[in-house]
Amino acid sequence: MKSYLAHLECGWSGEIYPANQLMNLSPAAQRPLLARYDIDAARKAFPREALLGREPNLWRYAEMLPVQDEAFRFTLGEGFTPLLRLKRLGAALGLANLTAKDEGQNPTGSFKARGLVMAVARAAELGAKALAIPTAGNAGSAMAAYAALAGLPAYVYAPRDMPMPFLAEMKALGAEVTLIDGLINDCAKYVREGVEQGRWFDLSTLKEPYRAEGKKTMGYELAEQFGWELPDVVIYPTGGGTGIVGMWKAFDEMEKLGWIGPKRPRMVSVQSDGCAPIVRAYDKGERTAEAWANAATIADGLRVPVAVGDFLILDAVRASNGTALAVSDESILSSVLELGRLEGIFAAPECGATIAALRRLVESRWIKPNERVVLFLTGNGLKYTHLIR
Ligand SMILES: *Cc1c(COP(=O)(O)O)cnc(C)c1O
Repeated sequence: MKSYLAHLECGWSGEIYPANQLMNLSPAAQRPLLARYDIDAARKAFPREALLGREPNLWRYAEMLPVQDEAFRFTLGEGFTPLLRLKRLGAALGLANLTAKDEGQNPTGSFKARGLVMAVARAAELGAKALAIPTAGNAGSAMAAYAALAGLPAYVYAPRDMPMPFLAEMKALGAEVTLIDGLINDCAKYVREGVEQGRWFDLSTLKEPYRAEGKKTMGYELAEQFGWELPDVVIYPTGGGTGIVGMWKAFDEMEKLGWIGPKRPRMVSVQSDGCAPIVRAYDKGERTAEAWANAATIADGLRVPVAVGDFLILDAVRASNGTALAVSDESILSSVLELGRLEGIFAAPECGATIAALRRLVESRWIKPNERVVLFLTGNGLKYTHLIR
């Protein structure tokens, strides 16, 4: 399978850069670079029927993914996660068509596997010799796993209060972990220093072009699993926002490929009361988000005070007629327990946020009883046992 990757484009300024060298942010604007494909050629060579019989992992979309050489298409079976019907939770909320994309079934227990398999594969293909990442936990674990497959050293910088199971997992996967007194953006400073010293390549969210490419496969899968008719509402717990940005890009690509029509889901970005920079910017009508002071939430993946792709998240939410809302940590935790009790899924706190948001949107009638709603259950709960009493 041939990749139709063509070039990189700055998401802010539209400037074009070549895709055949390691790149972080766009050099001029210091904003995220997005991968662009030769879609006219792909449209002829890659009809959606070509997917029949392919392996059930994210490489089934290889033509629209950046990795050129098959030897770098590492896999631990990531992607093509099940779309689960949530009948009992749906009934409790008065919804007839509630489903979950169960991303907790990915390798290392979260959807970070999608982004990191792609970023690591492409970095290795373009000659990176070592990899580093700032993380709340899941991204570091996923990078460690794929760096192992690539045979590259992995350096992880994480907040000191990261739950123990993450640390154990990263170490077991061969990463060198440094714990920092601070948040993910403080960890990012250490990674940047190492870049300046030429020690490694930086795989921070949206600071290289390919994590978003891995995450966009959630959008391809939604279309495929819904029979090429996208659902009405997608609810997504937002930290750095690669998932929303990636899915929105995927919908656009699929329409150009002739795979889907112009209909889009309303994209809902959910954050915690304790760290909601995107929600605040959405409410104020701003295109970029100010840093959130004193970020604190039990949903570690949402404790992201600054997102370099803020404008891409906000653009997608607005263009889709979606919305952004923040929920309390209390409602996050009670929703995790409700999901477990009603549906047999032990999910990470970030997932509880999607359910708490859903409840509010049903109560305010923003979501109608028959609409097809998808919750992104982004991670498994097993690394957060400290929250359950
Ligand atoms: C990282 C993470 C998120 C946030 O994802 P972004 O793409 O950074 O917005 C949500 N849930 C879990 C479980 C995560 O690990």
